[in-house]
This record gives sequence, structure tokens and C-alpha cells, in this order.
Amino acid sequence: MTKVFFIGAGPGDPDLITIKGKKIIDSADVIIYAGSLVNKEILSSRKSDSLVYDSAMMNLEEIIDVIKKNVLEGKVVARVHTGDPSIYGAIKEQMDLLEEDGIEYEVIPGVSSFVAAAAVLKKEFTLPNVSQTIICTRISGRTEVPEKEDLEKLSSHRASMAIFLSVSMIEDVVKKLLKNYDGSTPVAVVYKATWKDQKILGGTLGNIVGIVKKAGIKKTAIILVGDFLSSDYERSKLYDKSFSHEYRGAT
Ligand code: SAH
Repeated sequence: MTKVFFIGAGPGDPDLITIKGKKIIDSADVIIYAGSLVNKEILSSRKSDSLVYDSAMMNLEEIIDVIKKNVLEGKVVARVHTGDPSIYGAIKEQMDLLEEDGIEYEVIPGVSSFVAAAAVLKKEFTLPNVSQTIICTRISGRTEVPEKEDLEKLSSHRASMAIFLSVSMIEDVVKKLLKNYDGSTPVAVVYKATWKDQKILGGTLGNIVGIVKKAGIKKTAIILVGDFLSSDYERSKLYDKSFSHEYRGAT
């Protein structure tokens, strides 16, 4: 029996998949990819006789059936998710069903869109004396967020935040954040980070709603919030010449 590989395809730019993930896609007999978000160019050097399924049109059972049938026939299956599969990837329910049937699987991580967004903005989430914490979250939509993690509660930390799956509800996001962040707190909305049609919008909690509405962005965007987006910070100790650590003495 072969196995199925869950692969993080990265945020969009086809060069941002891991070498390991790409090698598996290129040698896979069957590829099931999330067609709504994964860049098809990632499949460009697949085997010519490989079978490709778009999971956007399939339900969980159909996906598992395709995986099971092919793995049992000795085929290599690549199940390709956007970004990293561990973040809003609905990967656990697939792994659990495969485990029930004794099907082996392996997970290959990917570049999540929140780190891709920081890269295109050329920002660091963890600035000394600004924030040392990143909160990845979303607001409730068709999938509920547990009450204990309501955005209003999370905002009390005023940490660096990456908010997924919520741009269509930007008014609610801002309303909740304003309970604890100042209206002058910087916000960036990155639409399709690393894709050719990427758009970057910048503003503050006070004005971002109008900016997003004007740009007409309703999906495939991540909202980053926090003072890490502005430029006041202290330099890190890591490269400070008066600070010694395991690999370097102080001068
Ligand atoms: N597993 C993915 C997230 C899937 S949920 C990851 O690790 O990135 C889908 C949400 O991710 C979208 O609604 C959007 O908020 C975000 N997203 C995915 N790709 C994106 C991209 N290229 N640019 C900006 N946001 C993206």
C-alpha cells in the first residue's frame, strides 16, 4: 500500500511550495487540490497521466473515497491544500477517516498566507517592546468561533494579529477591535498575497472599512492589525553587540 500526502501549496506564487511538496506533486498518480485557492501552476509539471480532482466540487466522503480507492490500488495521492494545511485546512476530519480505514498519510507543511502577507509588506510580527505574540484568528461566519475566543476578547492583548476569512465582515472586525485597540492602530489588508493580482491596502482601524469597501475586496484577503505595522520599536537583543549569547560573545 502507498500513502496519501497532505501538502501545503503555499499562498499563491507557485515557487513558494516546499521542494518536498513539489516533488510529490510531480510524481503523484492522483492529485486532489483545493481549486478555489490553490494556484494551478503548481500542477504544471505533474505526470501527464496523473488524474486531477478539484476538491471545491467534492464533499468529504467523495474526497476520502478517491483517496482510499487509489491508495489501495498502490497509487501515490497528493492532497493539496492552500497555505499550510494546519490552518483552517479541514485536514483533521480527513486524517481521522483515513486512520479508521488504516490508510497511511503524511503531512508536508506550507507557507501560510499570514507569513506571506508579512513578507510582501516587509514587516516583522514580533518587534521588541511592541508585541511578542501573534494571534491567528477569524470571526464567526458559517463556522462559529468559540465564545472564549471572540475577537473582542482577543483584542484585549493588543498583540500582532492576523485575521483570516473575515474581510467580507470588515465592519464587525473593526468594531470588535476598537473595544481595545486605538483608532490610530495600523491595519493592512492583503488580497491574494504573492499572486500576480495581489493588492495591498493600508490604513488605520479608523479608516480601513471605507478603504476595503472602495477597493471592492470581499474574499481571499488577510487582515493584519497591530503596532508592528508602524515603525517604533527597540532593536532586538539577538544582534545587539553588547549582548552575548551561545554563538557570539559581547564586545
Ligand atoms: N490554510 C490557509 C488558510 C485557508 S482559509 C493558509 O495557511 O493560509 C482561507 C483564508 O486564508 C482566506 O479567506 C484568506 O483570509 C486567507 N488566504 C489564503 N490565501 C491567501 C492569500 N494568498 N492572500 C491573502 N489571504 C489569503
